[in-house]
Amino acid sequence: FAQLRRQDPEIARVLIDEVERLRGGLQLIASENLASPAVIAALGSTLTNKYAEGYPGRRYYGGCEVVDRAETIAVERAKALFGADHVNVQPHSGASANLAAYAALLRPGDTVLAMALSHGGHLTHGSKVNFSGRWFDVVAYGVRRDTETIDYDEVRDLAVRHQPKMIICGATAYPRLVDHAVFRGIADEVGAWLLVDAAHTIGLVAGRAVPSPVPHADVITFTTHKAMRGPRGGGILCTAELASRIDRAVFPFTQGGPLMHAVAAKAVAFGEALRPDFRAYAAQVIANARALTDALAAEDMRPVSGGTDTHLALIDLRDLGVTGVAAERSCAAAGIILNRNAIPYDPEPPTVTSGIRLGTPCVTTQGMGVSEMKEIGSMVAQAVRRPGAITSVAERVTRLTRGHPAYPRG
Ligand code: PLP
Repeated sequence: FAQLRRQDPEIARVLIDEVERLRGGLQLIASENLASPAVIAALGSTLTNKYAEGYPGRRYYGGCEVVDRAETIAVERAKALFGADHVNVQPHSGASANLAAYAALLRPGDTVLAMALSHGGHLTHGSKVNFSGRWFDVVAYGVRRDTETIDYDEVRDLAVRHQPKMIICGATAYPRLVDHAVFRGIADEVGAWLLVDAAHTIGLVAGRAVPSPVPHADVITFTTHKAMRGPRGGGILCTAELASRIDRAVFPFTQGGPLMHAVAAKAVAFGEALRPDFRAYAAQVIANARALTDALAAEDMRPVSGGTDTHLALIDLRDLGVTGVAAERSCAAAGIILNRNAIPYDPEPPTVTSGIRLGTPCVTTQGMGVSEMKEIGSMVAQAVRRPGAITSVAERVTRLTRGHPAYPRG
């Protein structure tokens, strides 16, 4: 870092300011985490230099024997962690992993059944502005109006009517567990592949805090940077039968050279997740999300679906007469970083929304527990309800983060 500071003080300043931003605020974005210094060391390594198209032992470049070790260790650790037949650790991101899964299993024009973006699904599950909606015929399922949970009867009816080649479950803004066994049954009924997009939940699966999709899915795509607490990146688990189709879909079909520094960092993160303390972390993430949801509910901030089983809460702000975008801004002014989010059947456009999404991976990594979640719930409520009182909320944020700093000094 000393060298970076001498050579490029402008960028060194950005790095310092970002650490200070993390230390000074509360990060409640459900898809973010604080990767360990060991993960960050692997990311900032000379492995970034190496071209390694192909797979360990079968590369299209010389000099890969050292980086091969990193990828082999990453694959072996992920296999041990998830009990999957096959793992591909090369996808650059969750979206890249999904692109590869579509490429492995489908042809353009095929029908896919996936969760609507407006009900919690992801862009790559059929949005018209994404490859998935442009190149595939995507039929959307949603949640019920009364329970705000997935309507499995609707999923079955749509599957029977549209005969999709692939069904996707797993979401971006769904606080409840997905019943993988029910999805498996529906996929089998209509002869479809089942893709579980576990981008958000794979860290909780790794920590044995939620049921694993591995026994039910043909393919599981995931990200390594969310609850998993690794480097920004993606991965794919699949059955032995699909191993070579998935590998060929990642390279050479949708990617070139893998990011070997990121692959090494994924290995470090999988190693961390194999340790017993990761299980305690994953369980605490969920306990914290429940405590935060309850605290917000007590402040008349209605949790969509009535609560949470995961790392995130989705809150309907309509009873307070506040929009998602206004709440996001007031919270940010107090140092509480969260995002506006559409709620199911949202009357507001996506740029405004009636809701906010909050997640607990970062604050849990900082060592906060249930009592801190009660305090955070009260701070969020105060910031959202009384934007005039931001200064006093900001002071509370500072006090709380001092006691539980992100990346403690030294
Ligand atoms: N799938 C789901 C369900 C997600 O929530 C996300 C990201 O938020 C992705 C895929 C894409 O991940 P990435 O941003 O790494 O491309």
